[in-house]
Amino acid sequence: MTIRTRFAPSPTGLLHVGNIRTALHNWLWAAKHGGEFWLRIDDTDPERSEERFVDAIRADLGWLGLNPHGQERQSERFALYEARFEALRAAGRVYPAYETQAELDLKRKIAAGRNLPPLYDRAALALTDADRARLESEGIAPHWRFKLEHETPIEWDDLIRGPQRFDAKTMSDPVIRRADGSWLYMLPSAIDDAEMGITHVVRGEDHVSNTALQLQMFDAMGATPPAFAHEALLTGSEGKLSKRLGSLGVEHFRGSGIEPEAVRALLARIGTSDSVEPVVEVATLIEGFDFSRFGRAPARFDEVELATLNARIVHQLDFARVASRLPNGMGAAEWAAVRPNLTRIDEAGEWWRVIEGPITADRDPADADFLAAAARIAASLDWSAEPWGALTAQLKAETGRSGKALFLPLRRALTGLDHGPDMKALVPLIGQTRTVQRLS
Ligand code: GLU
Repeated sequence: MTIRTRFAPSPTGLLHVGNIRTALHNWLWAAKHGGEFWLRIDDTDPERSEERFVDAIRADLGWLGLNPHGQERQSERFALYEARFEALRAAGRVYPAYETQAELDLKRKIAAGRNLPPLYDRAALALTDADRARLESEGIAPHWRFKLEHETPIEWDDLIRGPQRFDAKTMSDPVIRRADGSWLYMLPSAIDDAEMGITHVVRGEDHVSNTALQLQMFDAMGATPPAFAHEALLTGSEGKLSKRLGSLGVEHFRGSGIEPEAVRALLARIGTSDSVEPVVEVATLIEGFDFSRFGRAPARFDEVELATLNARIVHQLDFARVASRLPNGMGAAEWAAVRPNLTRIDEAGEWWRVIEGPITADRDPADADFLAAAARIAASLDWSAEPWGALTAQLKAETGRSGKALFLPLRRALTGLDHGPDMKALVPLIGQTRTVQRLS
């Protein structure tokens, strides 16, 4: 059996970090089993769905390296939903209801006043053909509910939450279709999961009660349900469901110099018993991914942690991986020299300017003789050997300086800065001519 997962965003906005995490976990699970990861665009609602968000979702998944094996769009599958709907209706599992929103609200208030749960009372099931004809002649179009089967408990073994049990009697028959014929999320999703041969549904725990309802839909359609993994939701670093998380997406990450490897490494492991590490190779994440590692507590997303992880990822990236994003002329040796000092790739440009010059450097008059000696020695060195070691050794012998007094004036004169990449790696790249000029 091919393992097949799906990521099913509604294209009503940009993906945020919570969606990205769900997509990643579906992708990892499929990859781990040599299976397939599908993108399903849940665009049944034409009012709220926008093409630009469909494009953005695809582009974001591409940037993250989570490429789907295939794609479906719910807006292209209405004929299928219609057919399944008719079959369920013929089987008595969907029924028309005529209450207005105001009537339903009133029923809920009455129930609350009696200390009863706000359950739909199934009044529509008691209507006769004549009642329905009268309501429809009054111009009231029905909406449609799925009729839950009350007798058997709803049970599944959740891959993260363990054994789950719901009593259908405590749940309202869900509305699956509006009076204007448009679909709500619940039934099309179950139809697609069945039709697309989805074997595992990985989603947030806000869908747990939907799963209970959808399991009855699978059953009513004679379909085998997928396995389910409901993850604890993501929270902000402050520990609360944070509004900010909803605005953090690929655009924000890219703009902050965050690499897709860092996003993947963090989101694969937060909320699990595995420690977050700067894992560049996705194969490592795939191998270690398992729902048994997931905890029930909310996963904390911390932007500071992401930035730190990102720096540790950048320190490992090969030249070939970053070449197209470096300044013209910057090569593998320059990348290797500056990489340990970066927190993001675009900072390489600042070091490239230091290498290429011109730079401005303050000189302490007290260092004048020292730097003049340095310039003289630099001009005499064989630059193809290891010039920094030779320069500092000769200067130390000549001037008696050591430590900071030896190194800092040189670094300042050569880079204009107090801190930076290892001078041993930098000086060969600055080259003999510029080194002598800067020291003079
Ligand atoms: N479109 C639904 C959502 O974004 C899909 C949920 C699911 O994975 O079934 O919430």
